[in-house]
Amino acid sequence: MNLLKDIGLKNKKVLVRVDFNVPLNKKQEVTDNTRIVAVKPTIDYILKNQGACILMTHLGRPEGKSTVFSIKHILDEVQKTLNREVVFVNDCIGLKVKKAAKSLKAGQVLLLENLRFYKQEIQGEEGFSKNLAEIADVYVNDAFGTSHRRHASTAVVAKYFKQKCAGFLLEKETKAITQFLESKQHPVTAIIGGAKVSSKIPVIKSLLSSVDNLLIGGGMAYTFIKSKGGHIGESIFEPDMVEACKELLKEAANKGVLLMLPEDVIAADKFENNAQTRTLNASNIENGWMGLDIGEKTQTTFNNTINESKTILWNGPLGVFEMESFSKGTEAVAQAVAATTKRGSFSLVGGGDSVAALKKFKLIDKVSYVSTGGGAMLESIEGKALPGIVALSK
Ligand code: AMP
Repeated sequence: MNLLKDIGLKNKKVLVRVDFNVPLNKKQEVTDNTRIVAVKPTIDYILKNQGACILMTHLGRPEGKSTVFSIKHILDEVQKTLNREVVFVNDCIGLKVKKAAKSLKAGQVLLLENLRFYKQEIQGEEGFSKNLAEIADVYVNDAFGTSHRRHASTAVVAKYFKQKCAGFLLEKETKAITQFLESKQHPVTAIIGGAKVSSKIPVIKSLLSSVDNLLIGGGMAYTFIKSKGGHIGESIFEPDMVEACKELLKEAANKGVLLMLPEDVIAADKFENNAQTRTLNASNIENGWMGLDIGEKTQTTFNNTINESKTILWNGPLGVFEMESFSKGTEAVAQAVAATTKRGSFSLVGGGDSVAALKKFKLIDKVSYVSTGGGAMLESIEGKALPGIVALSK
């Protein structure tokens, strides 16, 4: 992978794919600027080395042009975070953009309109990619969170540049994932949670080749429990995935991986914070009750395993952590990961909900690395080559 520090930037126009897909409130104000902060080092470096930055990003999932998803809503926050003036142009290709790029001087920043206003972005269309490329001399990809997508601005545009490289964020993300995958520091433990087991089957399968312990919690645990003949009441369940879960349990046993499922759960009579709750055996949940968090016994066994681990991966909450009544399991695991990291272990946390949980419990700076990409991180761990990264080496 080509790196930013190896590229001459003086008087170059640098097209930087960033991920400014930030959350907005009803007044269209940015509520979390983490993704902007994350690429600041790359932008600062380009400007310091007398380049000019042209930033391109997507925001949300617009269908065609739409004021709701306009990048103009985030312009103020970008200027504040970067601590400099940023020129905005209300398109990402075409004459207006060419003119703005042409008059851009070294040390200046131009921000383009939402890439997804054109369906050609998602289609990875050649003509659109060529148009994006026309305005710059160098291409930098610093949008790790979208690098698993074969889109124009991530995977296609690069081929129109002789000079192309990863930004500092992309470089850091790939290093952290490699550190996890190649870690010789055992025991290696993966903690996987979240609602849908179907979206995590491939990553669990590949983790079975590299981890010693696999802790499974969240809604996805119930399909595993059901596949072992457990009774799960009204808990979330994916019938099509029962066979896949059975296979994974068998494979874990064959490979000597300790795959741990919840022993006890906090069960509720409805999916609400003020529901009635009971602690029940995870394999014996009565009809009319659903498991919404791991119980205290499970917290203890999971935490004992985490405490002994030297390398940790965490993706997905252990319960419905957004509701106070079902947040204890996720908080206990987050605390254990933080405490183990403090004692010198390496911890990598990724995925929107696990990162939100770390923020909620004020532990975001207590783990070794927080990935900005959920899907991209999981696909990297599965061993897939990400199109946005492959394109930088062609
Ligand atoms: P995912 O996008 O698959 O990683 O799932 C994240 C979501 O899983 C969060 O919004 C959690 O509230 C939800 N979740 C975690 N545990 C459960 C559970 N036991 N039942 C239903 N949803 C859950």
